[in-house]
Amino acid sequence: MNSSKITLSTLAFALVALTTACGGGGDDAQPQATARGLSAQTAALDASLQATAAAPLSADEARGLVFMREEEKLARDVYAALLARWNLTLFRNIGASEQAHMDSVGWLLTRYALADPAAGTLPGQFADPSLQALHDALLARGLLSPVDALQVGAEIEEVDIRDLRAIQATVDNADLLLVYANLERGSRNHLRAFHLNLQREGLVPVARVLTQAEYDAIVQSPHEGG
Ligand code: MN
Ligand code: MN
Repeated sequence: MNSSKITLSTLAFALVALTTACGGGGDDAQPQATARGLSAQTAALDASLQATAAAPLSADEARGLVFMREEEKLARDVYAALLARWNLTLFRNIGASEQAHMDSVGWLLTRYALADPAAGTLPGQFADPSLQALHDALLARGLLSPVDALQVGAEIEEVDIRDLRAIQATVDNADLLLVYANLERGSRNHLRAFHLNLQREGLVPVARVLTQAEYDAIVQSPHEGG
């Protein structure tokens, strides 16, 4: 890759990131931590959540929350490392969204008095060995090149959507369903953004985790506002 190619690519990334950031989605704004642990960008979700009552939590629901807390951390930490390596604005915007996703799952962990697996951990550290291995493998690939970084981003979003769909099937508490629906909508928007950036690099991205039909249904539909 010569220097003019890098410059053009970086510009394209920046433009797509800007378009994404201005898409109106509540999951795309910059984070602003509040004392309560939720961020300003999740104000609408916050208000809806406060209106839900806590209900008895099943073992599956508890396991799902603990897992998703770390899976959102995985996305946040990989994107932070890829932002530091490649300085693509897309990773800053989407990374901010992942922090909000972590925060909303963290709010539920607090509500249900569950131990936070991310407490006291450094970026790139995970309690779940499978997520630690996934993080390490994806980060190593993403550090190879900007295009590899974008492909890793798309794959993380696919994993997130797959896991959220499986976990949601085990859930009936309204507050958990509200948070998971918000996370999945964010992930669909992120997948659209990575897909578009890969296309602008001349690639024809295909599904790696979801079925091709599931993937196409997402990337061929418009950005969803929140
Ligand atoms: Mn997320
Ligand atoms: Mn995401």
